[in-house]
Order: sequence, then structure tokens, then C-alpha cells
Amino acid sequence: MASERSVNVGGVQIGGGAPVVVQTMTKTETANLTATMEQVRKVADAGADIVRVAVPRDKDVEALKTIVRDSPIPIIADIHFNHTLALKAIDAGAHCIRLNPGNIGGPDKVAEVAAKATDHGTPMRIGVNSGSLPKHLHALERENPVEALVAAAQEFVVLMERLAFTDFKVSIKSTNVPNTIAANRLLSERIPYPLHLGITEAGTKWSGSLKSAVGLGTLLADGIGDTIRISLSTFHAEEEVKVAWEILKALKLRERGPVLIACPTCGRLQFDMDTVVADIEKRLEAYEDPVEVAVLGCAVNGIGEASHADFGITGAKNEGLIFSRGKALKKVPQDQLVDALFAEIDKYTHTKTIQVDALEQAEGAQWLERIEEENAGELTPERLAKLEAEAQRAEADAMERDGIGVIPPADRVALDEDVSPVDGRRFSRA
Ligand code: SF4
Repeated sequence: MASERSVNVGGVQIGGGAPVVVQTMTKTETANLTATMEQVRKVADAGADIVRVAVPRDKDVEALKTIVRDSPIPIIADIHFNHTLALKAIDAGAHCIRLNPGNIGGPDKVAEVAAKATDHGTPMRIGVNSGSLPKHLHALERENPVEALVAAAQEFVVLMERLAFTDFKVSIKSTNVPNTIAANRLLSERIPYPLHLGITEAGTKWSGSLKSAVGLGTLLADGIGDTIRISLSTFHAEEEVKVAWEILKALKLRERGPVLIACPTCGRLQFDMDTVVADIEKRLEAYEDPVEVAVLGCAVNGIGEASHADFGITGAKNEGLIFSRGKALKKVPQDQLVDALFAEIDKYTHTKTIQVDALEQAEGAQWLERIEEENAGELTPERLAKLEAEAQRAEADAMERDGIGVIPPADRVALDEDVSPVDGRRFSRA
């Protein structure tokens, strides 16, 4: 269930019902200030709320002071094995410390860090990875890896509570997606602390994004998870941030910038969709308004499927149409479609109203009607889906009429929203 408690990382609230926080990690040598600051700024521009930097050496702690001072977003110091680096990172002003209490040199060292963190008001992220479980849990891990992960995390939670330190969030990560899902579900029922979600070593931009979308998306849709990091094998940390945002936008958990929708294309395609969609996606990165933009590969179906889009384009042989919220805006030569689309988006961005020229709109509507009429007999994917839906509805109506499969009202399952573990959280955070 959703976390009750929250931590404050340099002014960014994590947990307690706050919007899911996007974080990433720099891939530079932290001590290389120029490179690290460049990447910090890049990920901040891409929408990271907070960023983590690796601190494996003294020279990284030195650099940390400047990074914390100059960064536009809060900084988390990532520490392993060496608790003195954690102490120094707190002194350097890190907004949060990430450490694994199992590899920092024993409970006394953890206690020292917790005491210093308390003095400075610095929160921590504590966590376990499937690859580094304590020895005494190895037997359980072989039998039940999910229970072993959760047990390790709970042991760390108990240790921190015994030290009277509760200003922390928890992560349990695995390279295995089903185990990550199961372990976080279990942990969220057992502890009230905020959860950091991630899939360890998820992989390349392509496979890692998909694994993360499945694993993290499943948990987030259930209201579990307070901050996410997408781990991708790329030097470009901003790519991780973009993927994180796409997941949050897809679940309608947060809004940021435009949403692009595009048809899957088929044999009726009338223009070079791959290039056009990639071009539009790239150009949309410069916009902040959450406009929905649709790209339809042909006008055979009209614009019904994309009628909710704020702006869209569709094409026929030499001409194309710009449309907006279900209505034609104007007809333009196909090679000018994308530029004309952005001209309309720009006008909207500046005035917050959709500019309509009645004459151009009428011409566009006529053009669309003609294309639809000419192709009225085509069985497009959209029309097939519509026919299927109509057939299913008719079948359901017939069954109801004949009393087949109808559950008497008294036997119907009633959802009790008040006792739902995700009440007020699922898809509701702005
Ligand atoms: S029929 Fe549908 S899927 Fe095929 S190109 Fe046209 S809009 Fe795209």
C-alpha cells in the first residue's frame, strides 16, 4: 500500500502522497566538476527532480561541495563500503545519502552516520540489491528470493529504528522484474516508509526502458512507489529521465510537456511516417505545455480516432490536413505539414487559444469528407476494431435479453473504495 511517511530531499518531498519524484544518477567521474555539472544541468533540464552522484573517493567528496552549491536540483551522495565518505558527504551538504547498511562496515558505522545525519537533518536512502543480500539470508534467497529481499530490507529498517533514525526511504532492487514487483508489493504492506523503485541493471535504452515500464509501471499503477530511477546502459543520463517521465505521463500520474500519439501505420500509409514522427517528437521536446499531438498515417478513417488531440496531422497523396480537437483547421501541401503543424502549436502556446480561419477550416473539412467518401469501403484497423466492438456489444445485449450470464444484483461484487489500499492514489496524483 501507499507510503504513509515522507522524507524531504533538499525541498523535494518524497512519499506521503506527494507526486512521484523523478531521479537519475550522473555517469561522470564526480570529481570531474565540468563534466558532472554539465550532466547535472542536462538531467535537470530533462525534468529530473533530484540527482545522485557516486562518491567513491575523497576527491569526489571535495567536488560534492561545489556540486551541491551550483546544482539546480538536490543532490544525493551515493556511498558504498566507506562510512567516512558518508560522514564527509553530509558535511559537504549532500541533500541525502544513499547507503546499504549491509556493506558499510557494521551497525556501529551505520550508527555513526545516522547520528551525523540527524544532526544535519540529512535524510537517507537505505536499500538492498538482489546481488548483495547478507550471508544469513542466502538459504532463504535460494528458496524464496522475494521473501529474502523483503527480509533484508526489514532488517535494515529495524536497525535504523533502533538507532532512532526514521528519516529514510527504502529501495529493494532486483534485475528480475517479477521479483521486483512482488518484493515491493510485500514491503509496501509491511513498512510505512517511502519507496524508491528501480530495476537494477535494466539494460539498454530499448530493453531497459521496457523492463522498467513493465516493472515500475505495474507498481505505480497500484499506488506503490514514491520516487523512480530508470537504469539504462547509456552515458546520457537525461535519457533515463525522459523514460521516467513517459512512464509517469502514461499512467497520468504527472504531467510534463506534450504527449505524442501516432497510428501504428499500415499499407494505407501516405507519407514517410518514421521520419515525420521522429521529427515531431524531437521538436516537441522544446515545448512545456502538455498539448496532445496526433499523427495519422492517412485520412481514410477521418480523424475520429484522434479527435481528442489538441493538434494533429494526417495526409493523402500530395496534401495533408492539420486538425484540432476533432475539427479540420487547414489543408496544406504534404511537404509543409510538419512546419504548418508547429506554426499552429506556436500560435496556441502564445495565445492559449486555437486560432481558426473559417474559410481554411471549411476547405479542410471538405477535403477530409472527400477522402473519407472515396475510401468508405476500406477495412482499416480502426474500422475493424469498431466493427468488433459493435459485435461484442450486440452479443452482450443478446445475452442480457435471454438472461444468460446475468448476475442478480444481490450477487454482484461491490467495490468498496474506502477500504481500497490505493484509494485516492491510483492515477490521482497531479
Ligand atoms: S489506416 Fe489507420 S493505421 Fe493505417 S495508415 Fe491510416 S491511420 Fe494509420
